[in-house]
Amino acid sequence: MDSSRIQRHLDALGLDRESPPDAAAWSALLERLERDPLNQELHRRERYLEAVVEMQTRILSAPGDHLGAYNSALAPLGEASGAARVYLFENHRRDEDDALLLSQRAEWCAPGVPPEIDNPVLQNLAYSDFLPRWAEVLGAGDRIELLAHEYDSTEAIILEPQGILSLLVLPLMVDGVFTGFIGFDNCTREARWSTLEINLLSAAATQIGLLLAQRRAQRSLVSANEQVGAARDRALEATQAKNIFLAKMSHELRTPLNAILGYTELLRESERPEQAELDADLERIHSAGRHLLAIVDDLLDVSRIEAEQLILRRETIDLPEFLSELEDEVRHLASNNSNTFKTAVPAELGALSSDRTRVRQVLLNLLSNAFKYTMEGEVSLAVVGSDDAVHFMVRDTGIGIAPDQLERIFEAFAQVDDSPTRAFEGTGLGLAISRQLTHLLGGSLTVSSTPGVGSTFTFSLPRASAE
Ligand code: ADP
Repeated sequence: MDSSRIQRHLDALGLDRESPPDAAAWSALLERLERDPLNQELHRRERYLEAVVEMQTRILSAPGDHLGAYNSALAPLGEASGAARVYLFENHRRDEDDALLLSQRAEWCAPGVPPEIDNPVLQNLAYSDFLPRWAEVLGAGDRIELLAHEYDSTEAIILEPQGILSLLVLPLMVDGVFTGFIGFDNCTREARWSTLEINLLSAAATQIGLLLAQRRAQRSLVSANEQVGAARDRALEATQAKNIFLAKMSHELRTPLNAILGYTELLRESERPEQAELDADLERIHSAGRHLLAIVDDLLDVSRIEAEQLILRRETIDLPEFLSELEDEVRHLASNNSNTFKTAVPAELGALSSDRTRVRQVLLNLLSNAFKYTMEGEVSLAVVGSDDAVHFMVRDTGIGIAPDQLERIFEAFAQVDDSPTRAFEGTGLGLAISRQLTHLLGGSLTVSSTPGVGSTFTFSLPRASAE
């Protein structure tokens, strides 16, 4: 800096280049700086910024998203701006005609300024009746600045009794929707607000809008969660009711069914002269009855499993003996669709500790499916054992299963072909029960299949099932 410029600055500050300033010169200098308009502007800006931050902190610690809880949050803005009143109004709709109404929710008043929060006139007021241009201007996101002499006739009815000489009103936009407004009244003089004040108070209004949007989003998330929880509880109750009904009904059906089967067997064994004619019909009744009983038993299993009331027993199963009995049991199924049946069971397979009835049930289901869905082909049962597991593989050369159906078939009532004209009998419960039983036994049930080529179901169990 050249010396003439330095001299000019020193002169402006009232300092002498040659002699350093004494205490009196320093205090005169400070006084001048404080009165400096630029300095005052900076101070005001700082005050406003602090007020906006303080307001934000207070809103964050206020409960919920009701504007009524924001009274204390308005105080910093009122104190910093020198307003007589700061207030929040909320928009809402009238039930009868959907008209847009405004209601005061929160207010801060400077000492000595009468409050308006309990003024009934400022509740449920229709914009269209008294403040029509407000709805238009604020709704477009713009501010309203009015001096007392600029009020139109209806505005005057509302504003004059409150002693408002000038006001600044800024819209509260929540998620882009005009939700209400924040206003600042001056009751001592008719003066416009400075650009700085307008900018900072607009920032405050934007902040409130954002905080409200955030709070409301949180609230709707919480209520959505509650609804999901309630729906889940209702679904659980409905499932429970369904299971109880299924269990009861299956139980009720079993008793008469067993009687029908028993009497049919008695009739088949009798030695009457007309016996030969009756035999074929009795056989049909008997097989239909057994089929019905199997369905009822499946339903009973489904409801017991879902209600977690299935009791499993653990016993030692000698595998070669168990499998040879099973083979004998299913061999006759091969002739139904002219299939051949092969087994590959190593003699040294050992034993398995599991629930014999349930293991048999799963294998019977897999084998009878294999025979059902295979025509003039081959069905095989191969068993492989290791130290800690046994794998049963039921393979067929039947119709196969499309890739997109491979998991679905394990759902209750799911069938690849569920049309009323389907070619195969069945309820779609067998595999669902089998997989759930397998899981309860601590094992797994998987499938691989190629349509038109055949399927392999692999049922694996640990040598000793967990308790
Ligand atoms: P279903 O009583 O209908 O046989 P399952 O639960 O045992 O019920 O089987 C569900 C569906 O899976 C069957 O309807 C059938 O579409 C398909 N499926 C099961 N096993 C086989 C298989 N070995 N080959 C082809 N499709 C099969």
